[in-house]
Amino acid sequence: MGNIVTSNTSICRGCGCKLDVLQRVRGLCGNLECDRKDVPYQESKRREWLLASIRQQIPDTWSSTLPIVLLPRNERLLVPLPDTRYETHRGYLFKIVKEARTCYENDGELLAESNAPVNGISSIDATLPVLSTACGLCRGECCYTGGNSAWLRPATIQRQHWFRFGVSDKRIVDFYLSYLPVTSFEDSCVYQGEYGCTLPRNLRANKCNQFLCKELGDLVSALAENEGSSCIAAAINNNSAECIATVDALGFLEIAIP
Ligand code: SF4
Ligand code: SF4
Ligand SMILES: [Zn+2]
Repeated sequence: MGNIVTSNTSICRGCGCKLDVLQRVRGLCGNLECDRKDVPYQESKRREWLLASIRQQIPDTWSSTLPIVLLPRNERLLVPLPDTRYETHRGYLFKIVKEARTCYENDGELLAESNAPVNGISSIDATLPVLSTACGLCRGECCYTGGNSAWLRPATIQRQHWFRFGVSDKRIVDFYLSYLPVTSFEDSCVYQGEYGCTLPRNLRANKCNQFLCKELGDLVSALAENEGSSCIAAAINNNSAECIATVDALGFLEIAIP
């Protein structure tokens, strides 16, 4: 937490200046730089508060010493995919298919697909079934980043090797479009339907298949460090737990809805 002062409410946590009575309520002098520096402190307080509130909500039968891992939680609304988003995605697909074909026709130049962060999770741990369990509890919060492109790139199209079989651009675009869900989460990826991603894994971008968020990294660490090999996973939205569960490396043990 660097040089942030936390122990005396009569001085500013950021700069150490003396506070008047009103400023003491927040422990900050009001200077923008002090507010900016205070974000990690506020985050740690929010986390402490959340952990304490989850401990109060867990069933009596669960061990009170199990570590708790906080997961995100997608709570967007399910809505019919707007025509404008459908058209934007369709146009985008035509663009990347054309680019992929141009590269293919230029002596089969191979395009590189970008990799996604895996937040310290090894390739072996990335296959642990509990990671899918956790993503299910979270309901795909990270997928909002897919937007109207779904992270698809010319390299994703080229990886399919369909040009060798004389498949037309329109056929490829229509093939992708056929996987769009009727309803998807508002302002999220066009392919994020009620039960998760509607694109088959091999059609998805590398980024989608590889990405493992920081919270999944926390989960793997908690399971590896805890002697009992289980922990509590809590999916959080708006500072409250929407679902809590005990999990081990293979997935759910018990679920409780607060
Ligand atoms: S990777 Fe993280 S943010 Fe994405 S669905 Fe899984 S738990 Fe949620
Ligand atoms: S294509 Fe699938 S995995 Fe990728 S962002 Fe969209 S919904 Fe998520
Ligand atoms: Zn200050």
